[in-house]
Amino acid sequence: MKIAMIGTGYVGLVSGVCFSDFGHEVVCVDKDPRKIEMLERGEVPIYEPGLDRLMARNVEAGRLSFTRDIQAAIDGADAVFIAVGTPTRRGDGHADLTYVMAAAEEIAKAADHYLVIVTKSTVPVGTNAKVREVVAAANPDLDFDVASNPEFLREGAAIDDFMKPDRVVVGVETERAAQVMQDIYRPLYLRDFPIVVTDLESAEMIKYAANAFLATKITFINEIAALCEKVGADVKQVSKGMGLDGRIGKTFLHAGPGYGGSCFPKDTKALARIGQEHASPMQITEAVIKINDEVKRRMVDKLMDLAGGSFNGKVVAILGVTFKPNTDDMRDAPSLTIVPALVGGGAKVRVVDPQGRREGEALLPGVTWEADPYAAAKDADLLVILTEWNEFRALDLKAMAGAMKTPRLGDLRNIYAPEDARAAGFEAYAAIGRAGYP
Ligand code: NAD
Repeated sequence: MKIAMIGTGYVGLVSGVCFSDFGHEVVCVDKDPRKIEMLERGEVPIYEPGLDRLMARNVEAGRLSFTRDIQAAIDGADAVFIAVGTPTRRGDGHADLTYVMAAAEEIAKAADHYLVIVTKSTVPVGTNAKVREVVAAANPDLDFDVASNPEFLREGAAIDDFMKPDRVVVGVETERAAQVMQDIYRPLYLRDFPIVVTDLESAEMIKYAANAFLATKITFINEIAALCEKVGADVKQVSKGMGLDGRIGKTFLHAGPGYGGSCFPKDTKALARIGQEHASPMQITEAVIKINDEVKRRMVDKLMDLAGGSFNGKVVAILGVTFKPNTDDMRDAPSLTIVPALVGGGAKVRVVDPQGRREGEALLPGVTWEADPYAAAKDADLLVILTEWNEFRALDLKAMAGAMKTPRLGDLRNIYAPEDARAAGFEAYAAIGRAGYP
């Protein structure tokens, strides 16, 4: 099969590289010249574990290439995937479809043979039908089908998620399009994964419903965590006891500083908006959005208490600013609420993050970047763990506390137990959903 992939971001690049690894011929297109130049040099513009090696292997095999020229990419293609961004539209929470519709129009103008136009971007119900209209209007003679193929990969584990998906969802209108999609994903059949073939609207809805459900699960445990702090329970134990129930499941049940990232915040807002537009309000999702904002703000209050009531003049060492470990993605990360509040309150903030600096420098003005947690902790008043990167999971707490001016630990990922912090010499400790001290 020959595939064109429009957009080489977290989803488009991973999908394109993985499809080429299946044996398909893939051409990836991006309108950002910087990205295409990097890719042509063999450099990966994002941080995703294992992507560089897989990309090099398939470029070498002659199955994977990069271009800015959509016409060349589409020439002879059986399918073209739209994997461009769908950020929150300013003002109303709706998904901004400008990039998707622009890509659809460009495809229509470049195509001259039957192909399936597949939307991989997360888009509101009805978008694929609009893509069909836009393409038909721009190129009335074109023989084509549209298909919805939402992506469920997680940044940081994207290759594994793509190669071993829990399921692949494909929304189609014709048997012909279903066949092309099945041929594209056929290499995965060896592992016997389920392919869910639906109409366009159901496929679009599955993606939003799945993300809103996961955001709800996280928010539920965050709310339970706040209550645990008041009643003297430990949310880690509560979460374990709940999650072992097969009906509940243990994933997405870790209390923390609020969900962030490129998907949950925007997709929950978009679903709420779709509900409002159809007079079928998504009341649970609306509550989740509100509570998650409160959770992030509550983190600032928690740290303020730990700092003794004021950030002014305090030196604060922050470990981790990306929205989760193993990615360089900073979109809607809790750090973007918490760090500016510290800086605004007069703190001198030092930041350590294994991959976050490239994106973070512009987003977090007024902080100092350190390479090493121990250097960041030297003479600091407060140490805050914001992202649970592996390198922050086995710190020498005694050395950290010993280097600090006033050893205080805000563990917003519940990595270290209060007794470990106390034994290491921390005079104050706060975590999520469990008792701190003094
Ligand atoms: P991204 O912002 O990282 O990448 C989008 C890319 O598309 C950019 O490189 C941009 O330059 C390019 N682009 C935009 N318009 C173009 C055009 N007309 N022609 C060529 N290139 C164009 O976005 P992302 O994180 O990969 O997300 C893409 C979509 O996938 C979104 O809808 C998102 O919701 C969805 N999604 C993302 C994830 C994730 O973990 N990031 C997971 C599942 C689904």
